[in-house]
Amino acid sequence: MKRYGMVIDTKLCVGCSACVVACKTENSVPEGLHRDWIVEEVSGKYPTLSMEIRSERCNHCSNPPCVSACPTGASHRKKASNIIKVSPGKCTGCKACVASCPYNARFIMPEGYASKCTFCDHRISAGDKPACSTVCPTDAIQFGDLGNPLSRVSRLLRARQHKALLPAAGTEPNIFYLL
Ligand code: SF4
Ligand code: SF4
Ligand code: SF4
Repeated sequence: MKRYGMVIDTKLCVGCSACVVACKTENSVPEGLHRDWIVEEVSGKYPTLSMEIRSERCNHCSNPPCVSACPTGASHRKKASNIIKVSPGKCTGCKACVASCPYNARFIMPEGYASKCTFCDHRISAGDKPACSTVCPTDAIQFGDLGNPLSRVSRLLRARQHKALLPAAGTEPNIFYLL
């Protein structure tokens, strides 16, 4: 089984939002909603302030509370990978998954079903990279199989210091940020 993930370099991300725009276009995300977003975090004390810029989205968690919270089976893990998806036809729009996600990665579409990042699985199936990763002008977003020790994402994690978001939540996220 593939364990897809992203390794995102906070040193390369300039916060240009090209990933956000590309995702909206690729996935026809309605106005006012988004599958990915930019976070700018300032730390330290003046005059030694530092800023971390992150492109965030669903972490396609290995232990996803959104799947266990869903009463209808609409939220599910795809066969043969860790990609977490929603079947619109089975979703009642109850928002249990929205409430259970510690990353605020989900939203309800105007049609009434839950939605979020799919890791662009339609593109992956065709042998392409996710849209956000493709357009990034600094190549900050790397996508690949974390379960393959030879993949670029695995090699980056071995070579560089990194973190995941909210590890204490126990969701086992599959997006990592290089520091
Ligand atoms: Fe579910 Fe949220 Fe994890 Fe995505 S980030 S798999 S929506 S818990
Ligand atoms: Fe499941 Fe839809 Fe309810 Fe989310 S909103 S828990 S996907 S039925
Ligand atoms: Fe959007 Fe695809 Fe990137 Fe997910 S992987 S944030 S769906 S462009």
